Amino acid sequence: SNFSRLGLLPALLQRLNDLNYQQPTPIQAQVIPAVLEGRDVLAGANTGSGKTAAFALPVLQSLHEHDYGDRSNAAFALILVPTRELAQQVADACMSYAAAFSGQLKVTAVYGGVSTNKQMLALRSGCDVLVATPGRLLDLVQQNAISLKRVRHLVLDEADRMLSLGFADELAKVLALLPKRKQSLLFSATYPEEVADLAVGLLHQPLQVEL
Ligand code: AMP
Repeated sequence: SNFSRLGLLPALLQRLNDLNYQQPTPIQAQVIPAVLEGRDVLAGANTGSGKTAAFALPVLQSLHEHDYGDRSNAAFALILVPTRELAQQVADACMSYAAAFSGQLKVTAVYGGVSTNKQMLALRSGCDVLVATPGRLLDLVQQNAISLKRVRHLVLDEADRMLSLGFADELAKVLALLPKRKQSLLFSATYPEEVADLAVGLLHQPLQVEL
């Protein structure tokens, strides 16, 4: 298996070549084509599996291929993560892949533990991909710094950690703000009952990978 068979655009293939990604990991080989087809995905994935590229590459490509119009104050892809460190890491990866599209796609990370001012400024012109921890995201939505009403792609990364760290209520509040019609991708290293319940409520006929 090779990246060029997964349906990715030449610009992204070139970028992966530049990053010296030679072969897709197993999770990437399964998830990337499904996401490009618009399917929901439920994936068991640890750090090191290549999960970030598995969701980021096809979501970035979908955003590149669609014009959702007025970008002001809205996010089109939302990636929810449990921690500030992961938010930064995932945003860095997204920016690195999005360089394939010469800066057309804007990626922003928001998380707690730092002042909201800079994050509010960064969001003022909207963003294509918003990587966020749930609590800070809710704060920013309440302050009208960002709208989630136009989110087309949702990713829950490390869903098990999000719940075990006690973000269930905040997560539920965020999910309630999202449009019903969207693509949802759920990644979790373990699959406890709370994650299964979350998956049942969120995902429509998902592709199940490595569970
Ligand atoms: P992740 O599991 O998403 O945290 O990724 C783990 C590391 O593997 C990151 O440093 C990625 O840049 C790298 N990586 C992801 N996919 C590939 C690939 N197909 N080939 C080489 N490195 C990769």
